[in-house]
Amino acid sequence: MSVLAFEIAATIRHDGQGGVTDGLATAELTEAWIQANAPLVEEVAGGRSLGSSLSVDDGVRLQLVGVRRAVRSLFARAVSPAPPSKADATRLLAPATALAMLNEAADRLGSAHLEWPDEGEPRTRWSAESADPLDLLLGAVGRSGIDFLAGPDRHRLRACPAARCVKYFLQDDPRQTWCSPTCGNRERVNRHYRRKAGTPNDL
Ligand SMILES: [Zn+2]
Repeated sequence: MSVLAFEIAATIRHDGQGGVTDGLATAELTEAWIQANAPLVEEVAGGRSLGSSLSVDDGVRLQLVGVRRAVRSLFARAVSPAPPSKADATRLLAPATALAMLNEAADRLGSAHLEWPDEGEPRTRWSAESADPLDLLLGAVGRSGIDFLAGPDRHRLRACPAARCVKYFLQDDPRQTWCSPTCGNRERVNRHYRRKAGTPNDL
Protein backbone atom coordinates (compact mmCIF):
# COMPACT_ATOMS: atom_id res chain seq x y z
CA MET A 1 0.00 0.00 0.00
CA SER A 2 2.90 2.33 0.63
CA VAL A 3 4.51 1.82 -2.78
CA LEU A 4 2.47 4.62 -4.32
CA ALA A 5 3.88 7.17 -1.85
CA PHE A 6 7.38 6.07 -2.88
CA GLU A 7 6.56 6.31 -6.54
CA ILE A 8 5.38 9.88 -6.22
CA ALA A 9 8.37 10.86 -4.07
CA ALA A 10 10.64 9.36 -6.76
CA THR A 11 9.31 11.68 -9.49
CA ILE A 12 11.99 14.10 -8.28
CA ARG A 13 15.27 12.56 -9.34
CA HIS A 14 18.79 13.34 -10.40
CA ASP A 15 19.21 14.12 -14.08
CA GLY A 16 22.68 12.56 -14.27
CA GLN A 17 24.32 15.93 -14.90
CA GLY A 18 24.34 17.55 -11.50
CA GLY A 19 20.76 18.82 -11.64
CA VAL A 20 17.33 17.56 -10.68
CA THR A 21 14.56 16.49 -13.02
CA ASP A 22 10.86 16.50 -12.19
CA GLY A 23 8.61 13.76 -13.52
CA LEU A 24 5.58 15.97 -12.82
CA ALA A 25 6.97 19.08 -14.53
CA THR A 26 4.24 19.28 -17.20
CA ALA A 27 0.65 18.12 -17.61
CA GLU A 28 1.83 15.56 -20.23
CA LEU A 29 4.44 14.06 -17.91
CA THR A 30 1.90 14.01 -15.08
CA GLU A 31 -0.62 12.19 -17.24
CA ALA A 32 2.00 9.58 -18.17
CA TRP A 33 2.89 9.11 -14.49
CA ILE A 34 -0.78 8.67 -13.57
CA GLN A 35 -1.27 6.10 -16.33
CA ALA A 36 1.82 4.16 -15.28
CA ASN A 37 0.72 4.14 -11.65
CA ALA A 38 -3.01 3.58 -12.18
CA PRO A 39 -2.79 -0.05 -10.90
CA LEU A 40 -1.23 1.18 -7.63
CA VAL A 41 -3.92 3.87 -7.27
CA GLU A 42 -6.56 1.20 -7.85
CA GLU A 43 -4.97 -1.07 -5.26
CA VAL A 44 -5.02 1.63 -2.57
CA ALA A 45 -8.48 2.79 -3.59
CA GLY A 46 -9.91 -0.68 -2.95
CA GLY A 47 -10.19 -1.83 -6.53
CA ARG A 48 -11.91 1.25 -7.86
CA SER A 49 -10.55 2.13 -11.24
CA LEU A 50 -9.33 5.55 -12.31
CA GLY A 51 -10.68 4.86 -15.78
CA SER A 52 -9.76 7.23 -18.55
CA SER A 53 -11.98 10.13 -17.57
CA LEU A 54 -9.37 12.14 -15.70
CA SER A 55 -8.20 14.96 -17.90
CA VAL A 56 -4.90 16.22 -16.63
CA ASP A 57 -4.50 19.98 -16.83
CA ASP A 58 -2.19 22.21 -14.86
CA GLY A 59 -4.71 22.43 -12.00
CA VAL A 60 -4.67 18.65 -11.52
CA ARG A 61 -0.90 18.61 -11.86
CA LEU A 62 -0.43 21.27 -9.18
CA GLN A 63 -2.69 19.42 -6.75
CA LEU A 64 -0.65 16.26 -7.23
CA VAL A 65 2.58 18.24 -6.83
CA GLY A 66 1.16 19.62 -3.56
CA VAL A 67 0.57 16.14 -2.14
CA ARG A 68 4.06 15.11 -3.29
CA ARG A 69 5.55 18.07 -1.45
CA ALA A 70 3.70 16.99 1.69
CA VAL A 71 4.97 13.39 1.29
CA ARG A 72 8.57 14.50 0.71
CA SER A 73 8.46 16.97 3.60
CA LEU A 74 7.34 14.16 5.89
CA PHE A 75 9.98 11.82 4.45
CA ALA A 76 12.50 14.51 5.40
CA ARG A 77 11.11 14.51 8.92
CA ALA A 78 11.26 10.72 9.04
CA VAL A 79 15.01 10.57 8.21
CA SER A 80 15.88 13.38 10.64
CA PRO A 81 18.34 14.02 12.26
CA ALA A 82 20.10 12.71 9.13
CA PRO A 83 19.96 15.26 6.29
CA PRO A 84 17.00 15.04 3.88
CA SER A 85 17.21 14.62 0.11
CA LYS A 86 19.11 17.58 -1.31
CA ALA A 87 16.56 18.10 -4.10
CA ASP A 88 14.03 20.01 -2.01
CA ALA A 89 15.80 20.53 1.31
CA THR A 90 15.34 24.29 1.04
CA ARG A 91 11.58 24.21 0.39
CA LEU A 92 10.19 21.71 2.83
CA LEU A 93 6.81 22.34 4.40
CA ALA A 94 6.45 22.77 8.14
CA PRO A 95 5.39 19.39 9.61
CA ALA A 96 1.93 20.65 10.65
CA THR A 97 1.26 21.98 7.14
CA ALA A 98 2.48 18.77 5.49
CA LEU A 99 0.37 16.64 7.81
CA ALA A 100 -2.73 18.73 7.13
CA MET A 101 -2.19 18.42 3.36
CA LEU A 102 -1.62 14.66 3.48
CA ASN A 103 -4.66 14.09 5.68
CA GLU A 104 -6.83 16.33 3.53
CA ALA A 105 -5.82 14.34 0.43
CA ALA A 106 -6.58 11.02 2.16
CA ASP A 107 -9.98 12.36 3.25
CA ARG A 108 -11.03 12.23 -0.38
CA LEU A 109 -11.32 8.46 -0.01
CA GLY A 110 -13.29 8.76 3.22
CA SER A 111 -12.90 6.30 6.06
CA ALA A 112 -12.30 2.56 5.87
CA HIS A 113 -15.41 0.41 5.86
CA LEU A 114 -15.43 -3.36 5.87
CA GLU A 115 -17.22 -5.07 3.03
CA TRP A 116 -17.78 -8.84 3.31
CA PRO A 117 -19.91 -10.41 0.65
CA ASP A 118 -21.75 -13.70 1.40
CA GLU A 119 -19.44 -15.43 -1.03
CA GLY A 120 -15.96 -13.99 -0.77
CA GLU A 121 -13.27 -12.43 1.33
CA PRO A 122 -13.67 -9.37 3.55
CA ARG A 123 -12.10 -6.24 2.12
CA THR A 124 -11.77 -2.53 2.73
CA ARG A 125 -14.13 -0.17 1.01
CA TRP A 126 -13.67 3.58 1.34
CA SER A 127 -16.73 5.43 2.50
CA ALA A 128 -16.48 8.38 0.11
CA GLU A 129 -18.04 7.12 -3.09
CA SER A 130 -17.00 10.10 -5.18
CA ALA A 131 -17.27 9.67 -8.92
CA ASP A 132 -14.45 12.15 -9.43
CA PRO A 133 -11.26 10.33 -10.49
CA LEU A 134 -9.22 13.18 -9.01
CA ASP A 135 -10.58 12.24 -5.58
CA LEU A 136 -9.43 8.66 -6.14
CA LEU A 137 -5.98 9.75 -7.30
CA LEU A 138 -5.22 12.29 -4.56
CA GLY A 139 -6.97 10.16 -1.95
CA ALA A 140 -4.90 7.10 -2.85
CA VAL A 141 -1.61 9.01 -2.77
CA GLY A 142 -2.51 10.56 0.60
CA ARG A 143 -3.63 7.23 2.02
CA SER A 144 -0.46 5.53 0.80
CA GLY A 145 1.66 8.18 2.52
CA ILE A 146 -0.22 7.66 5.78
CA ASP A 147 0.15 3.87 5.59
CA PHE A 148 3.88 4.20 5.09
CA LEU A 149 4.58 6.89 7.68
CA ALA A 150 2.46 5.24 10.36
CA GLY A 151 3.93 1.80 9.58
CA PRO A 152 7.07 -0.07 10.64
CA ASP A 153 9.00 0.61 7.40
CA ARG A 154 9.36 4.30 8.28
CA HIS A 155 12.41 3.36 10.38
CA ARG A 156 14.16 2.00 7.29
CA LEU A 157 13.71 5.18 5.26
CA ARG A 158 16.98 6.88 4.26
CA ALA A 159 18.02 9.77 2.02
CA CYS A 160 20.94 8.60 -0.13
CA PRO A 161 24.00 10.67 0.92
CA ALA A 162 25.79 10.33 -2.43
CA ALA A 163 26.72 13.73 -3.87
CA ARG A 164 24.77 13.30 -7.07
CA CYS A 165 21.75 11.49 -5.67
CA VAL A 166 18.45 12.84 -4.34
CA LYS A 167 16.74 9.52 -3.67
CA TYR A 168 14.82 8.28 -0.69
CA PHE A 169 15.14 4.52 -0.28
CA LEU A 170 14.34 1.72 2.16
CA GLN A 171 17.41 0.33 3.87
CA ASP A 172 17.48 -3.46 3.49
CA ASP A 173 20.36 -4.00 5.85
CA PRO A 174 21.74 -1.82 8.70
CA ARG A 175 25.09 -1.55 6.87
CA GLN A 176 23.53 -0.25 3.67
CA THR A 177 24.56 3.39 3.23
CA TRP A 178 23.76 4.09 -0.43
CA CYS A 179 20.53 3.68 -2.39
CA SER A 180 22.26 1.46 -4.96
CA PRO A 181 25.62 -0.14 -5.80
CA THR A 182 26.03 2.56 -8.46
CA CYS A 183 25.95 5.34 -5.85
CA GLY A 184 28.26 3.38 -3.54
CA ASN A 185 30.84 2.79 -6.28
CA ARG A 186 30.74 6.38 -7.46
CA GLU A 187 31.26 7.69 -3.92
CA ARG A 188 34.19 5.32 -3.32
CA VAL A 189 35.82 6.56 -6.52
CA ASN A 190 35.18 10.18 -5.52
CA ARG A 191 36.74 9.67 -2.09
CA HIS A 192 39.76 7.99 -3.61
CA TYR A 193 40.14 10.89 -6.04
CA ARG A 194 39.75 13.48 -3.27
CA ARG A 195 42.40 11.78 -1.16
CA LYS A 196 44.80 11.71 -4.06
CA ALA A 197 44.13 15.17 -5.44
CA GLY A 198 43.51 16.91 -2.15
CA THR A 199 40.94 19.10 -3.84
CA PRO A 200 37.20 19.37 -3.41
CA ASN A 201 35.24 17.35 -5.91
CA ASP A 202 31.54 17.51 -6.49
CA LEU A 203 31.22 14.67 -8.97
ZN1 LIG B 1 21.79 7.15 -4.40
